Amino acid sequence: MKKICWLALVLWVGGNGGSRGATRPPVYLANPLQGTDSVGSYSHGNTYPAIALPFPMNVWAPYTQPQRDSFFYQYRQTRIRGIRQTHQPSPWIGDYANFALMPVSGRLVVREDERASDFRHESEEAQPSYYRVRLDTWQATVEVTPTERAARFRFTYENDAAAYVVLDAFAQGSRVTILPEASKIIGVCRNNNGGVPGNFSNYFVMEFDRPFAAFGTWTPGGVHEGQSQLAGEHVGAFVRFETQGNRVVGCKVASSYLSPEQAERNLAREIGDADFDTVRRRAEDAWNGLMGRLQVTGGTEEAQRTFYSAVYRSFLFPHRLHEWDAQERPVYFSPYDGQVHAGFMYTDTGFWDTFRAAHPLYNLLVPEVSGEIMQGLVAAYEQSGFLPSWSSPGHRDCMIGNHAFSLLADAWVKGITNFDARTALDAMVHDANTQAPSRCHSIGRDGAEFYQQHGYVPTRQREATAKTLEFAYDDFCAAVFALAQGRANDAAGFRHNAMNYTNVFDPQVGFMRGRDEAGNWREPFDPTEWGGPFTEGNAWHWTWSVFHDVPGLIRLLGGDAAFADKLDGVFYTPPVVNVGSYGTMIHEMTEMVAANMGQYAHGNQPIQHLPYLYNYAGQPWKTQARVREVMTRLYHPTPDGFCGDEDTGQMSAWYVFSALGFYPVCPGTTEYLIGSPLFDRATIRLPDGRQFVVTANRNGPLRPYIESATLNGAAFEKIYLTHKQITAGGELVFNMTSAPNYKWAVEPGQRPGSALEALHPAPR
Ligand code: CA
Repeated sequence: MKKICWLALVLWVGGNGGSRGATRPPVYLANPLQGTDSVGSYSHGNTYPAIALPFPMNVWAPYTQPQRDSFFYQYRQTRIRGIRQTHQPSPWIGDYANFALMPVSGRLVVREDERASDFRHESEEAQPSYYRVRLDTWQATVEVTPTERAARFRFTYENDAAAYVVLDAFAQGSRVTILPEASKIIGVCRNNNGGVPGNFSNYFVMEFDRPFAAFGTWTPGGVHEGQSQLAGEHVGAFVRFETQGNRVVGCKVASSYLSPEQAERNLAREIGDADFDTVRRRAEDAWNGLMGRLQVTGGTEEAQRTFYSAVYRSFLFPHRLHEWDAQERPVYFSPYDGQVHAGFMYTDTGFWDTFRAAHPLYNLLVPEVSGEIMQGLVAAYEQSGFLPSWSSPGHRDCMIGNHAFSLLADAWVKGITNFDARTALDAMVHDANTQAPSRCHSIGRDGAEFYQQHGYVPTRQREATAKTLEFAYDDFCAAVFALAQGRANDAAGFRHNAMNYTNVFDPQVGFMRGRDEAGNWREPFDPTEWGGPFTEGNAWHWTWSVFHDVPGLIRLLGGDAAFADKLDGVFYTPPVVNVGSYGTMIHEMTEMVAANMGQYAHGNQPIQHLPYLYNYAGQPWKTQARVREVMTRLYHPTPDGFCGDEDTGQMSAWYVFSALGFYPVCPGTTEYLIGSPLFDRATIRLPDGRQFVVTANRNGPLRPYIESATLNGAAFEKIYLTHKQITAGGELVFNMTSAPNYKWAVEPGQRPGSALEALHPAPR
């Protein structure tokens, strides 16, 4: 056997007690440029370098593309057009409420194609809490460091040529006011991509550290020297500084969705007199505090970088929408009704992606944030009549399912109960029985009435079979939640509908399949055909979306051996693509082919839990091998480091859980399926101060298999962990090996049962 040099890199031991210098804090291991080498037709993540705190309201990012291009930072481009405040969750959703700052020197140019500067990645530095780039064209450097709602900028000019900062408030209605006596610019930007009421505004304020030598406003049509105020479709401002003797210009910026006064409050509250380095240190501390809740040792240096990059990306979304008023109470502008409300509100996430692993990760590590997110869900229902599915910042028409049900149920079963559960359950009952409004098919249910009467969504609705499967899972979550609230009647109805997945399984072909109103199966059938009754996938991908009743799915597929063979079929069927109703190769298809794992398409969400399903059929060694393969082959801490869209933390949260050694296949239950731990040791610091340690003895790149395990010193022979076992604290020890152990945790009694049957003990 080839001998592997397995480096045990001990990095950053301890939270505040770790000595810097000797070890590197995890914030330095995270790479915000991961996933930025993407274009619309091929995604290596479709990310941008988000310079921000965890769960921020505002994010800061350089951009290389025209402002209207939502693929706005492309790693292979060579010119930067500005540093923008952004809120974009995904290029497919687009940005809103953005404005940008850009230094220029020597001559004043304001339009983004003229002010754009050459830059090189060698003179670019990106960390979650800090970004710096030299703008070669202007011989100037820009640096930025964030707070939740504000940022500090530093502009360094290399010579005494005229030094400018240009503000671009962008199109769709903007306003700027220059206050030279206060060295300030205030204004409003109103750009958005839908999902907001007419009174939506982003009020910004920026204060420079010295007087303006000159100033003016601009529109794309021209510059107005000396003018201090301008409003219009697309306006901006510029200021010039005297830099002789001091070429470093400081600036602090904040914004608010509430009012100019609140923007000033956010600036004073989050930055005040703190200088650049102080703000940067606080931002580093915030990230290290969060990242320090997951401490790993061993593995390769690349794996450690990938891990902390994944932790960073897991916690960038959802964005806080609330701000803190003069009495230190949370208040927010609601994108659902255009009113100001007290309380918490989060946005910029698609639950279709994030219910799977991102929200379960928050429920484990930051339950205090999850509680606020749940309060925001209930508030969104009260203000708009529907629970959100994809918000940015209001309801957006994107993707399928009612996965707020999953978020609420998963939070509840993990002890997060500080929200209005009665209203939450009322919302589930309403949404499950209400046809989606024509303006937004992602809320309520397309085909709700037919689904309630006949148990599936017929193919006259788009993506009908995918919707049936996800509604059935969401009905399971609602049943869990209703039982917890003591509402047995509601629970019984939801529990009944959670079986509806069986109505779209065709035993003749052995796959989930489209079905019309008369009950006829959709013809012709090709399991490699994308679209039609499925969403961004084919029957190979969607047949497994029965998170809540895997034993039931195993029975449909003919038992353990046949089920495992079918799982093998996903990996061993060549990655051929029938483009189906898409008519052309969409990027998810291209990425599946490139990943070269057969029909397994880790680049998109529907199938990401599949490697863990072998556990339910008594073949856990296949889970261990596949999970390890995905972690090491498809994730890297580099600009091309993802195998498809990252999607607001989901792709990263999959990695975080998998690297720890377990994964929440069915959110809404308390079980985590065992995979293959990546590191020699991972310490989870739980919110109450306890620790849960996962140790993997004799681990290595060619030793992904589990030989045996102990939990707190006693033999551990289950293929799943419970939430309680983790939160109790303790140590799970795996003994790793290079060959499968066909005997460990393979018996039926060592597997999780059907979560649905646990709610529904009567025989079928
Ligand atoms: Ca996706």
